[in-house]
Amino acid sequence: MTGASSGIGAATALLLAEQGWAVVAAARRLDRLAALAAQHEGISAQELDVTDAASVAALASAVPACDLLVANAGGALDLAPLGDADVDTWARTYDVNVLGLVRTVQALLPALRAAKGHVVLTGSTAGHWVYEGGGGYVAAKHAVAALRETLRLEEVANGLRVSEVAPGMVHTEEFSLNRFDGDQARADAVYEGVRPLVAQDVAEVVAWVASRPAHVNVDLVQVTPQQQAAAHKVVRG
Ligand code: NDP
Repeated sequence: MTGASSGIGAATALLLAEQGWAVVAAARRLDRLAALAAQHEGISAQELDVTDAASVAALASAVPACDLLVANAGGALDLAPLGDADVDTWARTYDVNVLGLVRTVQALLPALRAAKGHVVLTGSTAGHWVYEGGGGYVAAKHAVAALRETLRLEEVANGLRVSEVAPGMVHTEEFSLNRFDGDQARADAVYEGVRPLVAQDVAEVVAWVASRPAHVNVDLVQVTPQQQAAAHKVVRG
């Protein structure tokens, strides 16, 4: 499980452990992972930076057998219109969300093939909708959706399952803070007048997708708050 140190990843790691999975919780912040691992004996902590090939290789060495990869590390780093965007910020967004996913899948593919395992990607409604200012993140999450379809085609004959869980607005502690460079007021405004999803809502979807019988491949689940019908249709009140 990548991106397990906070938000959706931490909730999913805990729920999967409660359901009996032996979970390797991976992210950069080992202190947070250690605190998570202390909550359930089924969780072990593994330091991981998905933008660093050597770090991903270390993860693969630490996980010789793998039935399920939940590739969740990612996030948005700005809300800049294409005309003004900082290209380096978009490159970092692509690196963590897309290339980080590719590195992780590549490293664990031998173990996943051996187990006829399952890859569950955390996509986003941003992988299926577009919105002004979303360009860097939207393009990256569209790439995630494209990679999910590609991997499904390429690995079907090897017995793998490949799924994408694509949430809309989820109020996690850090997602919007990271997007707005630590501006708490701007981050809070995203959720004003809305009852957003919480990490547990998404964790439950991931756990459901991962627990279907082996002959069932859930390709894509898009899940949104009731008040969010589209990128531009959020009913606040
Ligand atoms: P968080 O910011 O809480 O979680 C992001 C996770 O990714 C953290 O555990 C972080 O850990 C990890 N991460 C970031 N960079 C790296 C890296 N280079 N290497 C390894 N791990 C990394 O946000 P959410 O829980 O909200 O987001 C989780 C996923 O869900 C993301 O892919 C996000 O794009 C997606 N999503 C979120 C939505 C939302 O509204 N919140 C909506 C739709 C999708 P650390 O910093 O310790 O490395």
